[in-house]
Amino acid sequence: MNSNSDFNIKKEVILEGVAAAHGIKIGKAYIFDKKVFQAIKLEITDIDGAIEQFRFSLDKSKSELKKILDLAIDKIGKDRAVIFEAQIMILDDPFLITSIENRIREEKLTPAYIVEDEMTKYTKLISSSKDSYLQERAHDIEDIKNRIIRNLRKEKWKSKIPFSRIIVAESLTPSDTILFSKRDAQGFVTDFGGLTSHTAILARSLNLPAVVGLHDATIEIQEDDLIIVDGYYGRVIVNPAENTLSKYERKIKIVNSIEGEFNDLAQKPTITKDGHSIELLGNLDVEQEIEMVKAHNADGIGLVRTEQVFVESEILPTEEMQFEQYLNIVQQMQGKEVVIRVFDVGGDKVLPIDIKETNPFLGWRGIRFLLENKPYFKDQLRAIIRASAFGKVKLLLPMVTTVSEVKETITLINNCKNQLRSENIPYDENLEVGVMIEVPAIVVLIPKIAQLISFLSIGTNDLIQYLLAVDRTNEIVSELYQEFHPSVIDTLGYIFKTASENNLKVTLCGEMAGDTLATPLLLGLGLRSFSVSPSSIPYIKKLINNVSIQDCQILVDQIKKLDTHEEIMAILNNFLKTNALSIEDKIFEEDNDK
Ligand code: PEP
Ligand code: MG
Repeated sequence: MNSNSDFNIKKEVILEGVAAAHGIKIGKAYIFDKKVFQAIKLEITDIDGAIEQFRFSLDKSKSELKKILDLAIDKIGKDRAVIFEAQIMILDDPFLITSIENRIREEKLTPAYIVEDEMTKYTKLISSSKDSYLQERAHDIEDIKNRIIRNLRKEKWKSKIPFSRIIVAESLTPSDTILFSKRDAQGFVTDFGGLTSHTAILARSLNLPAVVGLHDATIEIQEDDLIIVDGYYGRVIVNPAENTLSKYERKIKIVNSIEGEFNDLAQKPTITKDGHSIELLGNLDVEQEIEMVKAHNADGIGLVRTEQVFVESEILPTEEMQFEQYLNIVQQMQGKEVVIRVFDVGGDKVLPIDIKETNPFLGWRGIRFLLENKPYFKDQLRAIIRASAFGKVKLLLPMVTTVSEVKETITLINNCKNQLRSENIPYDENLEVGVMIEVPAIVVLIPKIAQLISFLSIGTNDLIQYLLAVDRTNEIVSELYQEFHPSVIDTLGYIFKTASENNLKVTLCGEMAGDTLATPLLLGLGLRSFSVSPSSIPYIKKLINNVSIQDCQILVDQIKKLDTHEEIMAILNNFLKTNALSIEDKIFEEDNDK
């Protein structure tokens, strides 16, 4: 760690990015400056020798990747390690190998130059796509290219990486991330990447904090700088001032100390001070998170984001593969509710079909895609319905806009059930079907869909973007993405009221459910079922246990008189400070002071 005098020389800088994996770490930065190999264009005479050299580098790259695959299986499990299998498959691609070998023969140029030129064509093509997922895949191919060229030069991957550092890089490939974890990396900080980037996904699995999409972290941070990675709020603090450092040291202590308390909390019910029982469920983005859901003793899983399988493995899973995956989740939850959402592909998530859309958020997304691709949809429906024989499964439909979409899906579900019955395959005849409330149009239609379904799940992440016409991924308008916009609050109130009039259960599974600032407001508006990311479960439970519905309703009455997001935020902050905070909640108190 730096001496005190070092902190005075360098000024504290705070960088804001995307909170990709929870946790707080303080440590020295290691700047991972990826060597970009400039392959020189040279003529050669020994063609056969060059081809042999190229094949040797392919074999070497493959054996490196196989070692990484083994390490990944060990660290993050077999399912998630398939991204490395996919990389090995690219190295085996006969089209790529033949075109490179043919060019070496015809052009008589160094293999490194041909590899560089040929593979860059692919990366350029893919990275020109607006699709963030495809851009990520371009990084994978770039990684493979650099690996082959490095092996052509017979050089090794950085061999002298110090232990226990926070890794700072422009971007990290999955293999970098896994290899750094072998050197006891403490966290990851990158210029590029979003929540769906592999760095983010792997960091979450490795249980290390990560902040991505910081733009200029590699410029602002120097080698050996002391940095703080705050994976809760997507912040990186470079050369922290002494008071910042002690604030974060305090936070780490609080995080550690309340972990013990969280164990006790896990055994307690979620109940307000005035005796209202609240349901607290976990959202499952990656299968590994189930451990945390169980450790916190959540009431069940309120959202399984099944589309994650495309992000991780780029394959279309068969009915059998899906069934096994869902069965595993359902069995682990031992009879507790598991809400499985059908593939919400499209939008900012990957589509299994290669098409370009000008406005993907307003395009072929979720149920719209599935109803036009019924074979995929049926495979998934059958897998979910089959899993229902082994626990309490519920089926959830994303991006619903019309009553016909619901009707058409229910007909399909009934067809699948009939088929299964004729095949003597068991399932739960009373499997409940619910609709995500994400599009304003369906809010208005709740009374009309009420007869067809049994529950609603509010996806505030999308509902806010569609209600306020603010792209949830666009940084330019991020100030306008307001969780506490009066229209959002009134719309939520309307949904709770209408759902109750129509006997529909409502859960809220968007990020708002895990935001402590929003908890008293949501309780006051009438929400009684929260589904949050697993690491937020104890925080939300503790807060719920500390407030009364009566106080929350008074708070809502005050809020209804206000006009702006800022005024509402201020009153919510104030409520947290005066009503709900105990010593341990200082983590949030300081964050809300920001
Ligand atoms: C939401 O929109 O709030 C939601 C939970 O769905 P997703 O974030 O997966 O779009
Ligand atoms: Mg959504």
